[in-house]
Amino acid sequence: MWKINSSTIQYTYRFTDKFVRDLLKWACENKEIKSVAEITETNLTPRLRLLVEYGGFWKLREHMYKLATCKKIAAVRTTYLYFSKNYIKILKGRIKSYPHIDKDTTDYIKPVFKYFYDNLIDNEFFWNTYNPSGKYIKKSGIRDLDTSHKTCPYCDRNHIIPSSANNIDHLLPQSDFPFLSIFGRNLVIACTICNSKQVKGDDWALPILHPFYDNMEDILFFKFDNDKKEIRVCSKRKIQYERVTRQRGENFIRVLKLNKIYKKMWFMVENERRAIFESIADMDIFDAMENITNSSELVSLIKKGARKRAWMLNDFVQEETYTKLKSDYCSDFISQRNPILIEWLNDEYRKR
Ligand SMILES: [Zn+2]
Repeated sequence: MWKINSSTIQYTYRFTDKFVRDLLKWACENKEIKSVAEITETNLTPRLRLLVEYGGFWKLREHMYKLATCKKIAAVRTTYLYFSKNYIKILKGRIKSYPHIDKDTTDYIKPVFKYFYDNLIDNEFFWNTYNPSGKYIKKSGIRDLDTSHKTCPYCDRNHIIPSSANNIDHLLPQSDFPFLSIFGRNLVIACTICNSKQVKGDDWALPILHPFYDNMEDILFFKFDNDKKEIRVCSKRKIQYERVTRQRGENFIRVLKLNKIYKKMWFMVENERRAIFESIADMDIFDAMENITNSSELVSLIKKGARKRAWMLNDFVQEETYTKLKSDYCSDFISQRNPILIEWLNDEYRKR
C-alpha cells in the first residue's frame, strides 16, 4: 500500500526481454522445423546459438521446438512485444484494447514460460550469455537484496520473508499472462500470504495499481466506521492527469482482497487510539488540563498530540507493518468534531 522507491528485481531482470524477443522471433521464422535436432541447423542469433549448443540445455531445446510448432506463435510474439513495450500504459488504463492470445495457445505455451521462470533465470550460463556485464544472482539472492521495503507492498500487513521461495508475485499472473513470466516489471516481491491461492492466486484485473509506478498511499485510503467498528479500504476518485484512478484502485483492492483482510482488524484501530493517547500524555497535557479554560485550546493540544504520533509513524513506513492504517487513522482522528475529541480524552483519562 506504499510505493516502492527502488526495486532491485525490475532492474535485475531487464535483460530477459532481449532473450524472449530473440526466441519468439526465431520461433516465428522456423515454423517448418521437424525435430529438436534440427534446431542447430537453423538461423540463430549468436547468443541463442551459445545456449542451444550448451550441453546442459536439452530442456530449452525441447521448449524452443514447442514454441516453433505453436500454431499461433505470431500472435504470441505480437502480444509479448506489445505488453513489454506498453506494460505501464496498459496498467494505468491509458490503453484499453491490447492484443491477446486465446486460451488454447496460452495453455500450450505455459510450460515453456514456466520453465524460464522456474529454471532458466537461475542458470549461470544463461546469465553469462545474455547478461555478460551483469553480476549473476539467483532469485533467492534478489529476494535477500531487495531490502528497500520490509513490509508487503500489497497488504502492508505482513513482513516479507526473504528466505521464502513463494514471495515473488507475478502481478499479471502466469496462468493468463505466461509470456510475462520473466518480465522484470511484472515481478513484485510481496508477502507469501498475498501470493498464496487464498489471497491473490491467479486473480487479476486491468487497469490496476502497481507498487513500482504508483503512489498507492495517495490513492488508497482507509475509512473507519466507529459505530459498526469496521474498516473499509477505498480508492480515491481521481488524481492529477489520470482518468481511471478509481477503477485502478478498486481493482487493486479487489484482487488483493484488502477489504476481506482488513474488515476484522478493528483491534488495530483501538491500539492506535491508545497510542495517540500516550502521545498526548507525553506532552504533560494532564497537568495543563487543570489550567485550560477554553475547550478549543484543549482540542488543539489533542490534535497536536495526534500529529506528533503521525510524524513518528512516518519513520516506520515499510519498516513496520500497518503503518498505512495507523497513519490514516491519525488523520481521521484529527478530523473528528471537537466535542467527540474532548469526550474521548475524558474517557481515556478516567481509564488511566
Ligand atoms: Zn501481503
